[in-house]
Amino acid sequence: MAKTQLQRARDGEITPAAERVAERENADPEFVRRQVADGRAVIPNNRAHESLDPMIIGREFATKVNANIGNSGTTGDVEGELRKLHAAVHYGADTVMDLSTGENLDETREANVEHSPVPVGTVPIYEAVKRVDSPEDITHELLLDVVEKQAEQGVDYMTIHAGVLMEHLPLTDGRTTGIVSRGGSILAQWMEENGMQNPLYAKFEEICDIFAEHDVTFSLGDGLRPGSIADAGDEAQFAELETLGELTRTARERGVQVMVEGPGHVPMDEIADNVERQQDVCDGAPFYVLGPLVTDIAPGYDHITSAIGAAEAGRAGAAMLCYVTPKEHLGLPDEEDVRDGLAAYRIAAHAADVANGLPGARDWDDALSEARYEFDWRRQFELALDPERARRYHDETLPGDNYKEAQFCSMCGVEFCSMRIDRDARDADGEMASIDGETDLDSSPAAEANLPPVGTHDTSRVPDEIEVGGVTFTPEESHGDD
Ligand code: SF4
Repeated sequence: MAKTQLQRARDGEITPAAERVAERENADPEFVRRQVADGRAVIPNNRAHESLDPMIIGREFATKVNANIGNSGTTGDVEGELRKLHAAVHYGADTVMDLSTGENLDETREANVEHSPVPVGTVPIYEAVKRVDSPEDITHELLLDVVEKQAEQGVDYMTIHAGVLMEHLPLTDGRTTGIVSRGGSILAQWMEENGMQNPLYAKFEEICDIFAEHDVTFSLGDGLRPGSIADAGDEAQFAELETLGELTRTARERGVQVMVEGPGHVPMDEIADNVERQQDVCDGAPFYVLGPLVTDIAPGYDHITSAIGAAEAGRAGAAMLCYVTPKEHLGLPDEEDVRDGLAAYRIAAHAADVANGLPGARDWDDALSEARYEFDWRRQFELALDPERARRYHDETLPGDNYKEAQFCSMCGVEFCSMRIDRDARDADGEMASIDGETDLDSSPAAEANLPPVGTHDTSRVPDEIEVGGVTFTPEESHGDD
């Protein structure tokens, strides 16, 4: 049987996938190999996924973002799903999870794998549910059958909720929002009805063997994650985490790569503790967090409530952030929601990389800030996280081509553009003169530049036309909303 990325890394081999990852991350290939060999990073890379451009997930590398796509029982079709895949990759998803629960599951999954340059993840229990009349009818054989088929189809990583045990279920009594993970709730129902242990836990070693054969990576699911900040950090959550630590070691012993999923809804002050605890219990396995949402009050804006938590989780050491869209808890996201969710999460991931001092991460910020101070609008748009939106917003108030040379925008208007005023106040070397009591303010360059006089509302000195950078503007046309 061919070896997995983990086994080959342990053998001292720098695989072609590790070489490619090192190139993408600007990292030493030997460092990549060691991180994979130690289980501190994973390269999800099913041997059957031919269109994949390999990437790595680990806290020593750039923070990654996952986008969930997939249809539901009420909406979605294969073509629409491929459009969502395209939107997700276009707007910067590092991995996608096909969470389809509607029709055409095989067709949708195969199309996603065939067309996706990023790793594709799934949650096999969803398909198992679709193949029986009632969740309690799922058998061990059916589960293994679904896992094996999806592995053969080229799925790179799978969420396996093997950490939810019978013993944990009473610990969720009294929760505000019960069990909110789909996989967790299905398995809880199965265990309650059948009076048996979680089948994914019971068959974990056999799942490991299927994963090893196809080089599928575990994403150990957090089926008991809190669904509200009231339930964050409770006994049920941390009891499951202990089991996930045990399963991490079992999978690694069998040569399978592992990452571990985390919550969910967590107040901001508890996020770093959550990350540290997972890293400790799961021996440094990459932590893949959903959000977390830091408050429960904002349906319609949960890409923001969760991106705040995601940035903090990334800063504390989470390796991948699962995006949340504005439709969270409200409906199935469409392409525009995918775009908004990804923008929020790429900002969170990048903010974490900057804060963590990832080599080169801040270069992007510095380049954009320089373009901004130079009033190089076209360069700003090129460098923007979402160039199309940045250009469109600028064009909404200043559409003319000449405004792409302007030393102001409609936010402050020409006479109040602080950056233009600052530039005018400096000498050719970009320095401010040192001003003391002897300085004649009326004749200083700053006085010329700061029209109207600072601290007054007297606009009588504002000229009808102002020439900035060789372009003439009238103040009226430069004003935006006051
Ligand atoms: S007008 Fe205001 S917002 Fe616009 S570039 Fe100048 S300082 Fe920035």
